[in-house]
This record gives sequence, C-alpha cells and structure tokens, in this order.
Amino acid sequence: MKVLVTGGAGYIGSHTCLTLLEAGMEPIVIDNLCNSSAESLARVEALTGGKIPFYPGDVRDEALLDRIFTEHTISCVIHFAGLKAVGESVQIPLTYYENNLGATISLCKVMSRHGVKAIIFSSSATVYSGDNEMPLKETSRTGGCTNPYGWTKYMGEQILRDTAKSDPAWSVVLLRYFNPVGAHESGRIGEHPNGIPNNLMPFITQTAVGKRDHLNVFGDDYPTPDGTGVRDYIHVLDLAKGHVAAIRYLLSHTGTEVFNLGTGQGYSVLDMVHAFQDATGITIPYEIAPRRPGDLPTCYADPAKSREVLGWQAEHSLKEMCRDSWNWQKQNPNGYEG
Ligand code: NAD
Ligand code: UDP
Repeated sequence: MKVLVTGGAGYIGSHTCLTLLEAGMEPIVIDNLCNSSAESLARVEALTGGKIPFYPGDVRDEALLDRIFTEHTISCVIHFAGLKAVGESVQIPLTYYENNLGATISLCKVMSRHGVKAIIFSSSATVYSGDNEMPLKETSRTGGCTNPYGWTKYMGEQILRDTAKSDPAWSVVLLRYFNPVGAHESGRIGEHPNGIPNNLMPFITQTAVGKRDHLNVFGDDYPTPDGTGVRDYIHVLDLAKGHVAAIRYLLSHTGTEVFNLGTGQGYSVLDMVHAFQDATGITIPYEIAPRRPGDLPTCYADPAKSREVLGWQAEHSLKEMCRDSWNWQKQNPNGYEG
C-alpha cells in the first residue's frame, strides 16, 4: 500500500517512513528540504533495506503533486510538511500562514482531483486553549493559541474538517502530538534543529555534546511539584507507530476524528535533566532563568481514546527517550552534515 508522506525527510517524517516500511507499507515522499536533508531518507533506506521514491519540491506545487498522484496509486496521505518554529512564526507570521495553510489547501485540492480522500494531519497539543484542566482530552477546549504557528495548526484542522463535511467520501484523522523526543535506536536518524534549539531535549543534548555551556530552565515558580514546567514527552518511534494505527483506522472510516498522541505522563524540566543524567552519566549544567512568554505550567495528554479506538499506546520509557536522543546527538553532532 502506497502512502504519500509530505515532509517525510523531516524529524517525525523520517521515523514514520521507517515504521511504514517495517509495517510492509510503501512511503513516497515529497519534501522541499527547507528544514531537513535527503540524507535522512538514504539512511532510512539503509536501515530497512527498503526504497523510498523521493520528490524534492514544495507541497504547494500542484503540478508536482499531480505528477505524483499520476505516477503512483496512493491509498492515503500523511501530511507532515510545515514550518514549526514557534518564535519564528511570531516574527514572520505571513510566511507561516502561506506555507502551512497553502500546503494543506493545495494538497487537499489535488487529492480530491485524484479521488484520494484519506489524510492524516500532524496537529499539535498547542491547539488546546490554556484554560483546560489536565489531562487534555480530545474534547477539551481549543483555540486561544499564543502564536501564529499554533493558529496554523488550529486552522489546518478546520480546513480539513470542512473538507470532510463537504464530501462524505473523505476520511480525516487529526493527530495532536504532545512533545516528541528521542530517535531511532541506531542513532542514524534524529532531530537536528537549525540554530539555537527552542525545544528542551535538543537543548539538553547540545549542552551534553558541548555546543551550549548550560541549559536555561525557563521558570522555577510554576504551580508544579518542583516549580518547573511539566510536559508529556513521547518517543518519536511511538509517535510513528501511532500513524500506522491511524492509517488502519482511516481506511475503514469516513468523517473526521481527532486523537491525542502522548503518554499521559507529565515530566518537569528538572525531571528531564535528571533522567538524561541517569541515562547517559553526563551532567547537564543549568541555571534558572525567567519564564518563557506563552508557556503553560503543565500540559499532558489523556491518551485513552487512542488506546481504545486505535489500539495504540506509547511503549518507550523516559530513559529510552534520553538514551536515544543522546545516541543520535553524539554520533551526529552536526546533524546530517556529519
Ligand atoms: P521537521 O521540520 O523536521 O519536518 C517538516 C518537514 O516539512 C521538513 O522536512 C521540511 O523541509 C518540510 N516542509 C515544510 N514546508 C514544506 C512545504 N511547503 N513543502 C514541502 N516540504 C515542506 O518537523 P517535525 O518535527 O518532523 O514535524 C512534522 C510535523 O509535525 C509538522 O507539521 C509539525 O508542525 C508537527 N508537529 C511537530 C511537533 C514537534 O515537536 N516536533 C509537535 C507537534 C506537531
Ligand atoms: N524549556 C526550558 N529551557 C529550554 C527549552 C525549554 O526550560 O531551553 C522548558 C519550557 O519552558 C517547557 C519545557 O521545557 O516548560 C518544554 O519546552 P519545549 O519548547 O520543548 O516544548 P513546549 O513548551 O512547546 O511544549
């Protein structure tokens, strides 16, 4: 079964391509490499012995999409392609709306023309509004996003819901990811953010490898057990497996369904520092810094619906998340550039 994976050369996309190949499916990738390297796909091929047809280009290029749907009989699409840096989205909001919404709209138009009406969309816990009780259920309130990136996810969900409403043949699965971390256990593929990492785990691993001298812990006066922010970290391979489960669901249902992909377990920033130290034996120097604007004290999932409906749950431990993040970082201190 052929699955078109947009943004498949990226962090989550490359791990998902590997998992699709292991599940006997055939990923086909379109990616403009604006935040990734084709080397990730070469490494997935080497790890699995599989082949990934790769189309370098933009998802907004409808002629290119037309060509892909003509050259392959695609059963469904996983739509990862998008810009994702929260801070950058505040600086250049129009670029974010143009890229993330434009790609989703072009993709749905071309899919519709070719009669392929099954799509999984990479959404985010960021679409939930900040005034919800924890854990977050799929029915928790959404909206009130604190940055343009979050709004592109919120609006992307709406575009897909409306598309499915307009034509009952569509099947849409909106996957709301919590905090993906980790890498394939080989250390051959992983996450390499450009510039200074925004996210906690890449910042920790870059500190461990000596690229940063210390971690700034953004706030220690939150209403959490140790005062630092609590998040739901999930191993990227568990997340990847969630997509395989979602494909099975997608192909036997129509309409729109939303699922959280998280573990249901929250860990604080200091829990993460200590877990990383325990898993690797490396001490992470840190300093307490002011709160980061827009951050919530606590954010974690209720993953019950994914377990009950998709038959999926996260399996990797926090120790494995730390071990695998480090294994990737130390083997690839400069990402795919060696
Ligand atoms: P990533 O940047 O590694 O991957 C995204 C890929 O999309 C990149 O390879 C990039 O080159 C490509 N891309 C972007 N715009 C494109 C376009 N117009 N045409 C073709 N390719 C394009 O990011 P990721 O962490 O793998 O995230 C994948 C998806 O999951 C994104 O949509 C992201 O917003 C979403 N998500 C990520 C997280 C996270 O913490 N990593 C959390 C929630 C949701
Ligand atoms: N964080 C931190 N220092 C950093 C990066 C992040 O203390 O250099 C904290 C952040 O305030 C939050 C948690 O780590 O409480 C997770 O942040 P991340 O940006 O990885 O995820 P998000 O906040 O988007 O869920």
